Amino acid sequence: MRLVGFNPFRPSRRRAENPDRPEGSPYAADLPASCDVVVIGGGLCGLATAIELAERGQSVVLLEKGRVGAEQTSRSMGWVSSLGDTGLRLPLSLRSKAIWADYATKYGVDTSFRQVGVTLLCRGETELAHFADWRDQAREIGFVDATELSAAQVSERMPAMNIPGLAGAWHQPSDGCVRPEKVGPALAGIADSLQVAVMEQCAALDLETTAGHVSGVLTEQGRVKAQAVVVSGGAWSRAFLRRLGFEIPVLQVYGSLFRTGPVETSLQGCGATGSFGWCRRPDGSFTVGNNTVISTVTPDSFRLFRQFLPAMRDGHGAVSLDVDQDFFRDLKMFFASDDRKKLELQNTRVLGASPDARTKRATVTALRHEFPDFSDVEIASEWAGVIDITPDSAPIIDRLPGVGGAYVCSGFSAHGLAMAPAAAEITADLVVGQEPSIDASAYRVSRFT
Ligand SMILES: Cc1cc2nc3c(=O)[nH]c(=O)nc-3n(C[C@H](O)[C@H](O)[C@H](O)COP(=O)(O)OP(=O)(O)OC[C@H]3O[C@@H](n4cnc5c(N)ncnc54)[C@H](O)[C@@H]3O)c2cc1C
Repeated sequence: MRLVGFNPFRPSRRRAENPDRPEGSPYAADLPASCDVVVIGGGLCGLATAIELAERGQSVVLLEKGRVGAEQTSRSMGWVSSLGDTGLRLPLSLRSKAIWADYATKYGVDTSFRQVGVTLLCRGETELAHFADWRDQAREIGFVDATELSAAQVSERMPAMNIPGLAGAWHQPSDGCVRPEKVGPALAGIADSLQVAVMEQCAALDLETTAGHVSGVLTEQGRVKAQAVVVSGGAWSRAFLRRLGFEIPVLQVYGSLFRTGPVETSLQGCGATGSFGWCRRPDGSFTVGNNTVISTVTPDSFRLFRQFLPAMRDGHGAVSLDVDQDFFRDLKMFFASDDRKKLELQNTRVLGASPDARTKRATVTALRHEFPDFSDVEIASEWAGVIDITPDSAPIIDRLPGVGGAYVCSGFSAHGLAMAPAAAEITADLVVGQEPSIDASAYRVSRFT
């Protein structure tokens, strides 16, 4: 982790993007008076959870304060991969690939998921051997089709590559990608077809309880009675749950991505070289980025220091530390009235961020150098998102203590496309009292205490 800036007066990278109210959302128009379960958040996780609940016979209302899929889900790189995943992430990413495929076969809806393969280039023999060990262990948990490629095989597949001394690569054909901007609308379409009331521009403001059990949710459009609620609000979940007295150790970090125009190249599918990662789109353009995320110092950085210390020591990911106005903004919000906190949800229909110029320079330099096909390429568009990370990069799936019928599924740590469908399945099982096929207890928040 390195400090990349220190200017407490520099404006925050966060951006509230408040698109005009849609002419008419294609989804539900009026808030139902009651349902079995309210799902808060219309990103991939909330939508997948709503679908799973509807499949289990529940009547569901999904509340989205802005537009479905408009926050992290549509701002992602698009990878759906289990290659190299370990710990709590692996069971979810293995299972999720099957669920992604099911969306097309079961509902006839093209979510844009394609198994185009993910290739991770390895610079040394140790790295290659590490993946060989990983494959042997991962096979004990589920289907793994990763294979090793020699340096010559990599050159054959990617003749334009210029990475001297490359040791080889690992390639997993069953991995793939989605077009992130398609995911929200496609899953909302499935949910809608299962009679889920998908409400856009409808922030959940509060939980209502009766005798210690969820009895409804207060929204900006009124009340909906319910027996259960699932909070899957992505980067907003921690603040929302904190108001209910439940702490989840989740930090917000910023990730930036860049899109080229169409390029004639042998580079296919998705992959990473160690300097940058890519995802080829159907029109021949590429989404590229490196795995740097920026963590700005906020009051939460101090509150959660102890829980995140092991991750910092292990050097998880490439985290750059920055100091800007985030500290004072978050401090002010911490002491703000409850009404002010609720207003923030409605004032920020879509939470975005400014892309990082340093990350862009590093990504483009590596891309042009390592793949000369891209030497003249310009970046056609760029964007950033606010990512919710947990200390072990795996989500929190849990019941809220002391409130019957309240659940959380959040904290996907930049891997939600790969994990959320399976996490949603577990969550839905917990809500209806079925035994999940993956051990849910491992994902409880108590693992951090
Ligand atoms: C730059 C970037 C690159 C990424 N690349 C990848 C990748 O290649 N592969 C991968 O697997 N993952 C990737 N991710 C991560 C992935 O996008 C997320 O983990 C996943 O989309 C999380 O989905 P979610 O539903 O939890 O959150 P989100 O998509 O953020 O959705 C949460 C939703 O909840 C809504 N909400 C919050 N609070 C309320 C409320 N009170 N009332 C109503 N609505 C509310 C928000 O408006 C939002 O729409 C990337 C993320 C970013 C930002």
